[in-house]
Amino acid sequence: MKTDELREMYLDFYVSKGHTLQGSDVLVPTWDPSVLFTPAGMNQFKDHFLGKVKLDFTRATTCQKCLRTGDIENVGRTAYHHTFFEMLGNFSFGDYFKTEAIHWAWEFLTSKKWLNIPAGRLNVTVYKDDDEAFGIWHEQIGLPTSKIARMDEDENFWPASAPSQGPDGVCGPCSEIYYELEGGESVEIWNLVFTQFNRIGSPPDNLHPLPSKNIDTGMGLERCASVLQGQPTNYHIDNLFPIVQAAAEVCSRNYSLDSDDGRRLRRITDHVRACTFSIHENVYPGPDKAKYVVRRLIRRAVLDGHQMGLREPFLHQIVPAVVEQMKKPYPELAESVQRVTRVMQKEEEAFFQTLDAALSRIDQMFTRMEDVAGVMVDGNEAADLYKTYGVPPELLQTLASEKNLTFDWDGYNKSMDQHAVDSGAGQKELFQTGPLETLKESLRETPFLGYEQISASCHVKGI
Ligand code: ATP
Ligand code: MG
Ligand code: MG
Ligand code: MG
Repeated sequence: MKTDELREMYLDFYVSKGHTLQGSDVLVPTWDPSVLFTPAGMNQFKDHFLGKVKLDFTRATTCQKCLRTGDIENVGRTAYHHTFFEMLGNFSFGDYFKTEAIHWAWEFLTSKKWLNIPAGRLNVTVYKDDDEAFGIWHEQIGLPTSKIARMDEDENFWPASAPSQGPDGVCGPCSEIYYELEGGESVEIWNLVFTQFNRIGSPPDNLHPLPSKNIDTGMGLERCASVLQGQPTNYHIDNLFPIVQAAAEVCSRNYSLDSDDGRRLRRITDHVRACTFSIHENVYPGPDKAKYVVRRLIRRAVLDGHQMGLREPFLHQIVPAVVEQMKKPYPELAESVQRVTRVMQKEEEAFFQTLDAALSRIDQMFTRMEDVAGVMVDGNEAADLYKTYGVPPELLQTLASEKNLTFDWDGYNKSMDQHAVDSGAGQKELFQTGPLETLKESLRETPFLGYEQISASCHVKGI
């Protein structure tokens, strides 16, 4: 089944269950100061869940463009993480709850009329105390207990915190559905979140059942397509592999799954796709916030090309392949292909101009560190590399980690702060503390942010 067909089938299925089809929200929701990019399908419905808006419907289904900066380091390395991806979702605003959410997910995945995935290949997790969800899976769906794992709050409570310990706001247990690959490893394909509590104040007695319970689900379109198409990674599905091949051609490499070049080509594919969608929405590479993420993605992909021997801008040549693959669901991309190409090329040119000099300085720095058995990259020097050559600190951190060196974020931040004071400008980068910290911070500020979480224990299939 083609990815385009899967997208349509999912939406049709939920429309047939009384859901209103809604469009994807934008990728960069400037209306929502709590996130830089849309992290999940539920983001456009936050106010619906909180009862802040008048509801025109109580069931909705969407295919949402998402981008998760927290997954940048996973891209290329795991079989099924992207920065940009599409999330299919069905939502209930005080309408149906666990029983229907579970029954419909199961019907969609396993019934002959729909995806027809063999039930024996699926297993699920529930929150450790959630006897109700456990009972539905076991008694009503008929899953054997060996296929239902009870997990703690790191995996199966949203937001990831002990139920009585997290931030104020709506929260609840979730149940995730995994597909077992050949070889026994499982990949998470779908998360069903049961928002059933409002948390107010400190424990005990701070979890209050919501008068109207909600459902919020998210299924990764590419992951599900990869399962249905029997592919080794998401990057091998019908609408992504042509981009990988275009990248291989532009870089004059042969693609192979398990090689450094393979990882680089998958990363380039992901990053060009993410940047095409972002630039299309007028988020150009720049010094802060979402613009900085775009800059970082482009520079990271340029570095990958450089490591494969490229010395001239090349990423922009891959944009038409992205548009070709994505224009059916997103026809508006075809209108901006030239603009996106130009913007990307300009950013590449600027970075290529300084990259050789930057890399030779980084090499010298690593050699010097080796001589004195240093283990931590100096934050001052990293700040200087950013200011002089535009090397994003996260990129330097990645290069350092390949040599088992750590990175002095404190020193880097102090140096950038000092620079901001000296130059009288607000030069501090939003992502200066690294994506994990930024993410944690944003989760603290926006307890109902949705899915953007780094799960230390995620079942990562590394390549
Ligand atoms: P993982 O543990 O694999 O990182 P997650 O638990 O962070 O996934 P959720 O927040 O539950 O993911 O998001 C719902 C669904 O979206 C997941 O079940 C998965 O199918 C998909 N998904 C999440 N992150 C990504 C990503 N970076 N790339 C592709 N699909 C993703
Ligand atoms: Mg999940
Ligand atoms: Mg994750
Ligand atoms: Mg997970």
